[in-house]
Amino acid sequence: MGKLGVGIAVGCAVASCAIAAILVGRRVRSKRKWNRVVGVLREVEEGCETSVGRLRQVVDAMAVEMHAGLASEGGSKLKMLLTFVDALPDGSEKGTYYALDLGGTNFRVLRVHLGGISHGIVEQTVDRQPIPQNLMTGRSEELFDFIASSLKKFVESEGEDSDFTAGKSRELGFTFSFPVKQTSVSSGILIKWTKGFSIRDMVGKDVSECLQIAMAKIGLDMRVAALINDSVGTLAVGHYHDPDTVAAIIIGTGTNACYVERTDAIIKSQGLLTSSGGMVINMEWGNFWSSHLPRTSYDIELDAESPNPNDQGFEKMISGMYLGDIVRRVILKMLEEADLLEPASTKLTMPFILRTPMMAAMHEDESPNLREVSRIFEDVLEIPDVPLKFRRLVVKVCDTVTRRAARLAAAGIVGILKKIGRDGSGGVTGGKVRGNESNMKRTVITIEGGLYTSYGVFKEYLHEAVAEILGEDVAPYVILKVSEDGSGIGAALVAASHSQENSVNI
Ligand code: ADP
Ligand code: MG
Repeated sequence: MGKLGVGIAVGCAVASCAIAAILVGRRVRSKRKWNRVVGVLREVEEGCETSVGRLRQVVDAMAVEMHAGLASEGGSKLKMLLTFVDALPDGSEKGTYYALDLGGTNFRVLRVHLGGISHGIVEQTVDRQPIPQNLMTGRSEELFDFIASSLKKFVESEGEDSDFTAGKSRELGFTFSFPVKQTSVSSGILIKWTKGFSIRDMVGKDVSECLQIAMAKIGLDMRVAALINDSVGTLAVGHYHDPDTVAAIIIGTGTNACYVERTDAIIKSQGLLTSSGGMVINMEWGNFWSSHLPRTSYDIELDAESPNPNDQGFEKMISGMYLGDIVRRVILKMLEEADLLEPASTKLTMPFILRTPMMAAMHEDESPNLREVSRIFEDVLEIPDVPLKFRRLVVKVCDTVTRRAARLAAAGIVGILKKIGRDGSGGVTGGKVRGNESNMKRTVITIEGGLYTSYGVFKEYLHEAVAEILGEDVAPYVILKVSEDGSGIGAALVAASHSQENSVNI
């Protein structure tokens, strides 16, 4: 080889070394990026940690806050609202009752025939109507005139009913799913509107009275016998089918719980007595908070950007309204770390674009190539060609966020059991004799809501965690049951259990 030849050979070697160095450099850089992406996942996993030990701390905190909320008005972030419901239906009720369900964009009117122990719910007729948009923000009189006239039409359409020919008043259960301060089982004052309603002159008014006045104006002879919220309705339905039911949990767009408390434990009621010695308490548990809750930077950001910061902290970690958005925030961070997109140009920066049912669909994608994850990234987030290994991480994020939510809800449930002495520990207010499981009572919790009923993995995690916290000796005594939506029929059942003809105590 001549000098020139040697020169060329050396030149080529140098060039190929340089190319190799660039490639290796890229690989090292992309490996570094990938490690950072994986680091985001690891951090979220750590932040969402829910060991049994930590869950037990949440259980204790829930029981303590329940005590505090029952001791004095404003004593806890848990409102622990009195419902004045001291009798729950048990299947023996008879007669025809009406129900009105107002809590969102639609309202429903129901008529329910109750046939007693042997016949149960004989017939149920339903009429569903949208609330005209202008009535949601107008004056209270207009809204209630509209509802009363719809009720009248419903009653007229049923023809002559023998139950009501002898001048007997029709009885109505009213499910009003907005925050209300109850003054009796059938009356209460609106604290504030939510969910798009904003009728200013209504705040501070008695909800039942507004309806009663509107019905009287058009000569509709009907009496509001119960004013309740949806969780109480769910408890009523649960108790109707199974009298061992002690609490109801709602896990849908939002989350809430109610349960049966002994009246002597409701210190803030100042000696109020009920014939049964018990009363249903509406916990408004979405607002529960404890320093033991595993909180991440994503939760803090979500809360800060919400219209109600520092409010509904438990709900923001658990319910269907928020889970998808927590996942969205984590994915956004991962993609930023991976340099996979320009954040400003992506739909992923839009709050609530990733709804919880989409997150569930990605989580439950069982196709080998995670086709559903690809589809949602492409169709909803407008990010095509996401690598498979990234899609796998996305599934893990969904799993982490859902697992935490379900396990925290489980801890909340055991917190209620602890408060009423049904967790096998001797409880805050007494329970079984230690070491003798035969003293444990069968205890049923009824659960309702789209997140729980439609998201299989969520439900599995919740059940698993309740059993884990309670331990194998106690868990068999605690039964979690899916309930039908109690926001309609539940009100009719409470109206029935509080009418003079059907007095059943809890
Ligand atoms: P609401 O709580 O408004 O009364 P639902 O009980 O029907 O209504 O719950 C609806 C909520 O449940 C939705 O907002 C959604 O977050 C959640 N959800 C419904 N379907 C699914 C699903 N398949 N997977 C996960 N979450 C779901
Ligand atoms: Mg509901």
